[in-house]
Amino acid sequence: MIIAIDGPSGAGKSTVAKAVAKHLGFSCLDTGAMYRCIALAALEAGVELSDEQRCASIAREKAISFGHVEGDPVPKRVFIDGVEVTDDIRTARIDRSVSIVSAHPLVREALVEQQRRLGHQGDFVIEGRDIGTVVFPKAEVKVFLTASNEERARRRVLQNEQRGVGSVDFDEVLADIVRRDELDSSRETAPLIAAEDAVRMDSTGRTIEDVIDDICTRARA
Ligand code: C5P
Repeated sequence: MIIAIDGPSGAGKSTVAKAVAKHLGFSCLDTGAMYRCIALAALEAGVELSDEQRCASIAREKAISFGHVEGDPVPKRVFIDGVEVTDDIRTARIDRSVSIVSAHPLVREALVEQQRRLGHQGDFVIEGRDIGTVVFPKAEVKVFLTASNEERARRRVLQNEQRGVGSVDFDEVLADIVRRDELDSSRETAPLIAAEDAVRMDSTGRTIEDVIDDICTRARA
């Protein structure tokens, strides 16, 4: 079974996806982390982010993998070619760069192929922007998770504080979220839109636990 959770940045997708996976005993895939890895690898290699061919070569050649923190069944560590980049992909610099890289059709093609290969290996909760529309259009459960801009910025600041990485300035985070939504929604390939058959959930004013329960109930139905 595939549970697809799509939506804009900071809507709570990661927290919800990881908790749902834990409750149901599913694997979990954070596809945003994969795009972040390509942005990081491109910056480190001195590749122009606008250079689609070179970014796509990176997407095809770099091995992105996920690992577990001891005692936690949900993979939260991220590696590129075996080197841990868990924190390096969450910086404000990557926040600013990732949507340029993710807009390249050839980068998406390479990562979508990897995502499908992984997803076919078992029961997965997969979170991203295009999981229900492009990557797994036949996913059994599709959720489009949103929240108000302010709520999303507030959550992102809290998350960055907890992780100790990324901006913790509310206005800066809010501006980044709004800018990234605009780029992700207006790109030609796989823009951020809800699949027609997705359940739309607005998590503003709802507890994350309530959203998690809701999705688990739908998956068990
Ligand atoms: O989910 P997260 O905020 O980490 O995603 C980072 C970026 O990766 C998004 O802003 C978007 O540009 C890109 N992304 C995407 N398609 C996905 C997941 C993420 O284009 N399935």
